[in-house]
Amino acid sequence: MRLSRYFLPVLKENPAEAQIVSHRLMLRAGMIKQAAAGIYSWLPLGFKVLRKLENIVHEEQIRAGHIPIQMPILQSADLWRESGRYDDYGEEMLRMKDRHGRDMLYTPTAEELVTDIFRGHVNSYKDLPLTLYQIQWKFRDEIRPRFGVMRGREFYMKDGYNFDLTKEDALHAYNRHLVSYLRTYERMGLQAIPMRADSGPIGGDDTHEFLVLADTGESEVFYDSAVTDIRLGQRDIDYDDKAQCQAVMEEFTSLYARTDETHDEALFQQVPEERRRSARGIEVGQIFYFGTKYSEPMGATVQGPDGKQVPVHMGSHGIGVSRLIGAIIEASHDDKGIIWPEGVTPFHCGIVNLKQGDDEADAACDKIYKALTALGLEPLYDDRNERAGAKFATMDLIGLPWRITVGPRGLKNGVVELTSRRTGESEELSPEAAVTRIA
Ligand code: ATP
Ligand code: MG
Ligand code: MG
Ligand code: MG
Repeated sequence: MRLSRYFLPVLKENPAEAQIVSHRLMLRAGMIKQAAAGIYSWLPLGFKVLRKLENIVHEEQIRAGHIPIQMPILQSADLWRESGRYDDYGEEMLRMKDRHGRDMLYTPTAEELVTDIFRGHVNSYKDLPLTLYQIQWKFRDEIRPRFGVMRGREFYMKDGYNFDLTKEDALHAYNRHLVSYLRTYERMGLQAIPMRADSGPIGGDDTHEFLVLADTGESEVFYDSAVTDIRLGQRDIDYDDKAQCQAVMEEFTSLYARTDETHDEALFQQVPEERRRSARGIEVGQIFYFGTKYSEPMGATVQGPDGKQVPVHMGSHGIGVSRLIGAIIEASHDDKGIIWPEGVTPFHCGIVNLKQGDDEADAACDKIYKALTALGLEPLYDDRNERAGAKFATMDLIGLPWRITVGPRGLKNGVVELTSRRTGESEELSPEAAVTRIA
């Protein structure tokens, strides 16, 4: 992409309404624009990152054997009356009437709708296990939307639902989700720690939240510092292997790590004192096992091996896709701007032409652009007639991992400058070597 033809409305000034760094940087980098309280338009750069995160989530869910679907944003209230949640959900649910006076709502989550799909089509235990998921906009009329996409009212969420014959199978689904979520966050360059949590309006007994440690997080957390040393890394996971998934779950959840809702001071005191930590965290996902809480009232049953009808065991699992962008920026930035992890960066490399209009510099930039593109990478070429300082500031703000700076003086010696956004280190290389280094 050439910057002269792109739409990147960066702001020079710090927007007054933004209280935390990720919100500030997303506005300044022209990623989002507020449309109403807690509701945002996604401008090209923000939209690109959102799509990248969405792709990672899809890839990891499909790898775990889960099946993508898409359910509507607007739902009829009828199903929610069946489960009893129409009244329970309270003011966070945005309710409306259609022209015929029927009660409708903007989906805050979709247990009822997916259970209705299931009961309409699945009759036998032979069709289990089944996990359906979607990535879809949700609406919750948060009392205090704030911090940009971190706590929006409209937000993008992956929500998955497992249907199993037995509790044991459903707990395997729980573990599968836990492992696939760990992989997902690690690919985004994030450490998200599973912590024992409270189930809230979803209901159920078993639940973990995934928290990214950050001072600006809204959750208070308590943990054994040894949990921060565990990584999934490149392990080969067989998602059908119950014992393996269970082992990973235990490895990640046996050390003390809880949110304030389930914090137990007596248990916490058993953690060696030098490893006891209390901190703030951002909730970027949650998994639940809730058994037959929805299947029973809604009649989602299957015929078991003995011919008897039994309600299925279920769980639901969510990832806050749009919130994750804020969490990534909170975890990865400096005073000049964002520093994207490689896995989610909107462009792989910036190209800065120090002397736009100079034949040699223009030609060298074009050549680098083509070489990067041929390797399947996406460069962002700043071909505007701007001062070098302004071009550098923009590149630093939008945080691409690499910058190649091209100018007549370097080209005389056959070199360009390659700069790492994360370390700030630069080296002079031939244009070909710079391209190879990035690839
Ligand atoms: P919170 O405690 O922050 O209100 P939640 O527990 O109500 O979140 P869940 O029902 O667990 O949210 O939804 C799954 C995920 O969706 C959350 O882990 C979070 O990452 C994301 N999420 C929830 N509410 C919002 C919101 N208002 N804005 C952005 N993301 C959200
Ligand atoms: Mg909430
Ligand atoms: Mg929560
Ligand atoms: Mg939650």
